[in-house]
Amino acid sequence: MANWKRHALFLVMAVFLTLTGVGCQPKDAANPPQQQAQPQPPAGLPDPKTDPLQAPGADSSAKPEGPEPDERERVYQVKLAFVGDVLIHRSIYKDAKTEDGYDFRPMFEPVKKYIEEADIALANQESMIGGAALGLSDYPRFNGPSEVGDALKDAGFDVVNLANNHTLDRGPEAVENTIRHYRDLGIQYTGAYLSEEDRQQLRTMDKNGVKFCFLSYTYGTNGIPVPEGKPYLVNLIDEPTIREDVAKARGQSDVVVVSLHFGQEYVNMPNDEQKRIARAAAEAGATIIIGHHPHVLQPAEWIETEDGRKAFVVYSLGNFLAGQEGTRKRIGGILQLDVEKTVKGQDACIQVKRPTFIPTWIHMVNWRKYKVEPLRTVEKDQLPQADAVWSEIADHMKRWMPELHVAEG
Ligand SMILES: [Zn+2]
Repeated sequence: MANWKRHALFLVMAVFLTLTGVGCQPKDAANPPQQQAQPQPPAGLPDPKTDPLQAPGADSSAKPEGPEPDERERVYQVKLAFVGDVLIHRSIYKDAKTEDGYDFRPMFEPVKKYIEEADIALANQESMIGGAALGLSDYPRFNGPSEVGDALKDAGFDVVNLANNHTLDRGPEAVENTIRHYRDLGIQYTGAYLSEEDRQQLRTMDKNGVKFCFLSYTYGTNGIPVPEGKPYLVNLIDEPTIREDVAKARGQSDVVVVSLHFGQEYVNMPNDEQKRIARAAAEAGATIIIGHHPHVLQPAEWIETEDGRKAFVVYSLGNFLAGQEGTRKRIGGILQLDVEKTVKGQDACIQVKRPTFIPTWIHMVNWRKYKVEPLRTVEKDQLPQADAVWSEIADHMKRWMPELHVAEG
């Protein structure tokens, strides 16, 4: 290829990457896509016929050095969805009570389609769901009905994060009951485990030819000590451990997703410590970092690593379903990310694309009639200033990432 052509091509690629706000993360094709995976059209890549960025000088139609048949580029796509805290206060389980148990499924009905359409969806199970037999309880030591898990399954969730400041609220039994129930439901769990052996097992998931690994850590457990001899019951934030776990996960997967339970409650901006820990996870090899705990939304940003990768971080996704009062505590959201794996020869490249955020609202009337709905369609009697609040939330979430698409749902 002539030098000027090489330069023109480089320029086109540089402009394209800047416009989409993503960086390519080179990755050895250590995890070749499964045979059954169907390569999808490279959505998001410029169409040479219509894209004005495809300058004539970059047109390689002559193709004297065209790609070899086995050098053809293949693109694999996975749609991800993430939501914030599922914190089951007494008012919520009372609302879900039926004659013979609990049914939380109607509460997720208005947002179910956004969860279902994702290939992988993750929720933060903030309060354990040790079950009614253990005795249900509210703040400060929560225990919820196991049927919460059934509702998350029904809504389309595939993975739950269990490392929270409330993990140990009701002791090992509630954690173990929670894990066993999620196992029975076929939902993957991360951050709390049944044994050391269970903890050592990486939480990987293959989807459409892309291999994901899910890790999770919390800043603490509300002063409740981790039971002696059972450190696997909850993963605590410890930078050397996070670096080691992420590096191990990176070696065995294409995309490492790290959930971090951190930050200050009811504060809408991340603090220095959150930024430092998120960066440490990104530098160690994490591609996506999802923050929980403040119960209000904190913005998203890209972290550019020293080795030239770009990691996506959102510092807090707020409450998804919780029985807290106050406008900001009733707003959460569904974060949608597309992951693209581009394979060419022996090289594979991972990109996070089209970040989208659908703000949500926790609907309730006198602590009853709970449901999670898109903020854009909230009833006027629920939130009279809905339009102004929606704009404010949109600006807040995209302040460091202008290309974040804030969607009405
Ligand atoms: Zn928390």
